[in-house]
Amino acid sequence: MTFEETKDKIRKYAERYAERKGYRLNPNAEELDLVYEGLAKRREQYGAQYCPCRIVLGDKQEDRKIICPCVYHEEEIEQDGMCHCALFFKAE
Ligand code: SF4
Repeated sequence: MTFEETKDKIRKYAERYAERKGYRLNPNAEELDLVYEGLAKRREQYGAQYCPCRIVLGDKQEDRKIICPCVYHEEEIEQDGMCHCALFFKAE
């Protein structure tokens, strides 16, 4: 799979997930693209879409928490209006 195909897969995942959860995606197209890139890079490097804004520890069980959508995003979106990476935003 090429990098662009991986990125496209990530984009589709994020669009579907946002729709299912009633979130919005980052309205800034450039920022959104950077998050997709970060996720795609991690997927290529580690074989899983680890959050690009968090540290991969190398401990499979711990790291599972930061596979997008990470275990933290719901609370972050509720509290801050967006997840740590600014991928998902609270619906208005
Ligand atoms: S902070 Fe956002 S982009 Fe990062 S893993 Fe969590 S939901 Fe995904």
